[in-house]
Amino acid sequence: SAQPEVHEFQAETRQLLDLMVHSIYSNKDSFLRELISNASDALDKLRLESLLDKDLDVDTSDLHITLDPDSEKRTLVVADNGIGMTRDEVVGLIGTLARSGTAELRRSLAEAREKGVSDAAAEELIGQFGIGFYSTFMVAEKVTLVTRKAGHSTGTRWESTGDGTYTIDDVPDAPQGTSVTLALKPVDTEDHLYDYADKSKLRQLVKRYSDFIAWPIRMDVEKTVPVETPDSDTESDEDKTPETKTIVEAETINSMKALWAKSRSDVTDDEYHEFYRHVSHAWDAPLEIITLQAEGTFEYQALLFIPTQPPFDLFMRDSKVGIHLYVKRVFIMDDCAELMPEYLRFVKGVVDAADLSLNVSREILQQDRQIRAIRRRLTKKVISTVAEMRDSRPDDYRTFWDGFGRVFKEGLVNDPDNRDALLKASSFASTHSEEELTTLADYIGRMKSGQDTIYYMTGESRQQIVNSPHMEAFRAKGIEVLVLSDPVDEMWVSAGAEFEGKSFQSVAKGAVDLDADDSDSDDTSKDEQNKAYADLLSWLTTTLSDDVSETRLSSRLTESPACLVGDTFSMSPQLEKLYRASGQ
Ligand code: ADP
Ligand code: MG
Repeated sequence: SAQPEVHEFQAETRQLLDLMVHSIYSNKDSFLRELISNASDALDKLRLESLLDKDLDVDTSDLHITLDPDSEKRTLVVADNGIGMTRDEVVGLIGTLARSGTAELRRSLAEAREKGVSDAAAEELIGQFGIGFYSTFMVAEKVTLVTRKAGHSTGTRWESTGDGTYTIDDVPDAPQGTSVTLALKPVDTEDHLYDYADKSKLRQLVKRYSDFIAWPIRMDVEKTVPVETPDSDTESDEDKTPETKTIVEAETINSMKALWAKSRSDVTDDEYHEFYRHVSHAWDAPLEIITLQAEGTFEYQALLFIPTQPPFDLFMRDSKVGIHLYVKRVFIMDDCAELMPEYLRFVKGVVDAADLSLNVSREILQQDRQIRAIRRRLTKKVISTVAEMRDSRPDDYRTFWDGFGRVFKEGLVNDPDNRDALLKASSFASTHSEEELTTLADYIGRMKSGQDTIYYMTGESRQQIVNSPHMEAFRAKGIEVLVLSDPVDEMWVSAGAEFEGKSFQSVAKGAVDLDADDSDSDDTSKDEQNKAYADLLSWLTTTLSDDVSETRLSSRLTESPACLVGDTFSMSPQLEKLYRASGQ
């Protein structure tokens, strides 16, 4: 054919390319995700096109993506047999920045719907806008794209080294679809440039980023197999090592299972468990699986897990939120803190949102209305799931509570909007039972007539709390007290929690009026007692004035002669300790 045509990149494209070529971006690995995502997109488009256009003469029986690394030549080819591009499209789409073909595709998709094509396939189109293809220049010295559009006879070659120009050329015998050949830059791990011609590296990247791409991603692998000899079964000679040979076989290296997009009944527990281990890097089985498929304004799917075992870093400062974000099955980021409040950091899983950009940054996520709506919904869903677990599977709930209750209760402080739901889903130790936990509803059910507050005492251990002199009168009168011994308890009870109109009151603070409903004690007898002891009380108050602000008669003690009580609004000893520990 004639000489390749030389084209100049547009100014803004050139700037972007320059950024890519000299990128210090640490996530260079992501070029593969972009190429696979484009290939997957092209396969989606071809599938859709063949549905819309019955005359289109293409074979769609084996749509797939191929990775072909060559460690000697230091090249990597990523190929698909998808829709391909015409020469004009190559110039328009690849040669021009931010011209998203997918946006156009969405329009034709809407038209397709009007014509009555209803296939879930039509929805699975990835990519909206962005730098996608150009990310290859982070890892390649030269990029060669060869493509032929489905239904066209001539192909096109596009080539560039990422400087100001690219060449474009006709290719008469190109296979239908697109192949992108990267002449790889030298390995430089300091610069986050890894060996992208190495099969195990590629396998690892596919697992990490593209495992759930719905199309097969294939790579040739060498396999050692025994050589079959005709009479091998007549004699079993143990000294003889069996003869082997090496064969090359194409292997599908992604699992292709977007479990979150499937309905619950189509996925086995084993598959869920495997996926849980994959996303959480854990080895236990999930205690609870939560699936959510939202349609309407914000379309997304979520597959979440509550682990059985708390991870070792649950209380460490940099403990991560466990949600991976996907956009239309393309992995975007892990530890997506924007999708789950910190007090639910033990929840692991995937959220796949339909309408986000692939290049969405954390900064954008923080502002995104859709993300906030998803987070609100997921939060409520996790809380209600915990509440349901408590009612239907008490043993599992107990496992959950022992492992994660302390974290869950952080929400009582940090998430006032959900405080009611959180209180409903929570359990508490109490004086009612040494072993069993109680719900607040059950506590209220057992309240004495006339009792209108929920009594609690905080402390370092059950032992310390139940042996406190503050508890004596409550024990004597048979009034139940919540036994709160987690550090976080002190925080939420002081944050003004209420449950079903009942406030929480510490047995160690203020004047606890246990006689309110007691018929055999009345105000006159109290007054008389106060009069009788007035001299003693004022002497005590004066003598102890450095340490106490007031001395009063109390009905709360039955065994101990005296106890210290905080003001209703003063800090409890535990909170004081907490503040002191945090240096305030
Ligand atoms: P995006 O995928 O966000 O649109 P890219 O830079 O990744 O941006 O790709 C630009 C466009 O080039 C795509 O929208 C698509 O039209 C076209 N393209 C890229 N790769 C392929 C491919 N493998 N097959 C067909 N078209 C492709
Ligand atoms: Mg893309």
